[in-house]
Amino acid sequence: MIFKHFKQVLLPVDVRIHRNALGHLPKLVRRYELKKVMLVTGPKTYEIAGRKVEKLLSGSNCKSCRHSVFIVKTASRGSAKKIEQEMQGDLGDYDAVIGVGGGKVLDVAKVVAYHSNALLISIPTNAAHDGIASPLASFKERGMPISIKAASPIAILADLEIIRKSPVRLLRSGYGDLISNMVEVKDWLLGVEKADEDYDEIVAGISTMPAMLLLRSAEDLDFRNTDYLRLLVRGLILGGLAISIYGTSRPVSGSAHKFSHALDYLGYGRGTHGEQVGIGTILMEYLHQHYYGEGDWELLRYSLEKVLAPTTARELGLTRRQMLEALVYAKRIRPSRYTILEDQNPTKKEFEICLEKTGVCR
Ligand SMILES: [Zn+2]
Repeated sequence: MIFKHFKQVLLPVDVRIHRNALGHLPKLVRRYELKKVMLVTGPKTYEIAGRKVEKLLSGSNCKSCRHSVFIVKTASRGSAKKIEQEMQGDLGDYDAVIGVGGGKVLDVAKVVAYHSNALLISIPTNAAHDGIASPLASFKERGMPISIKAASPIAILADLEIIRKSPVRLLRSGYGDLISNMVEVKDWLLGVEKADEDYDEIVAGISTMPAMLLLRSAEDLDFRNTDYLRLLVRGLILGGLAISIYGTSRPVSGSAHKFSHALDYLGYGRGTHGEQVGIGTILMEYLHQHYYGEGDWELLRYSLEKVLAPTTARELGLTRRQMLEALVYAKRIRPSRYTILEDQNPTKKEFEICLEKTGVCR
């Protein structure tokens, strides 16, 4: 039995990233023979795309498919539980959960799909982070980020017409989360060298290649351009798949994420996930370059500036003291995950220099 040595991975079968990707939904209903589906969406995202999804489900192509709609007002583990309780004995009757919304609503849909053993169809209305396709759901509980196991989508319909109209701040955040992969994989490699961790070159490639492609065009980056927008969305979906394939968030989450989580833990998390991670990326890339001569923090910062994402503490409404505190605290987040922070254990003075040199705190 050689198969026991291989990894079984749940990968989506239908991934569409283009204009009117939503139009593909009736085909999915037929392909997966869906008879009863649950639509999980938010109040705003129902207006943006949920209503259209309902229409498609009630159209002539989906005649035999019944659906229920759940509007999630605040996304949390509790709201997933509430849906499950409302369904009571019916939960197992659903063939699919269709999540229509931003990352938070999709996280609730993922959890409900996981618990009801139904297929998950993901219809993102924005591209703010790589949670679109990952098998993990992230919530904040008492201000602290938590991550729980959830369903992997069987299909992702990323309709660029819808995502293009999402708040531009969210797209910039998505870019911050995507380019963090450049530094997070450097952290991973340190873990391989110094802490005897496992490594997968294919997964590392899936994680970093989309970011590399966008960085190569840093001069022209503009997410109003459909080609760049598609690259961004594709990159974020691939980031989620890297998590699915590897089995943990290691390929997309290291020191830049520890910094962002530290801000959250300290109560300074005023930016979006991607905004905080984007600034963390500049800082951690600087450290990699400082200690090992590898990386290009200036290019990363330039590209963030190019898409008008924040690159300074002031833009996040934070002071130098708060940033410094978060940098010192970051090592306490998930200490078993080896990164440049554990590797070099920089002093407060070194962090001060890092903040100064990168221009994050001028
Ligand atoms: Zn992230």
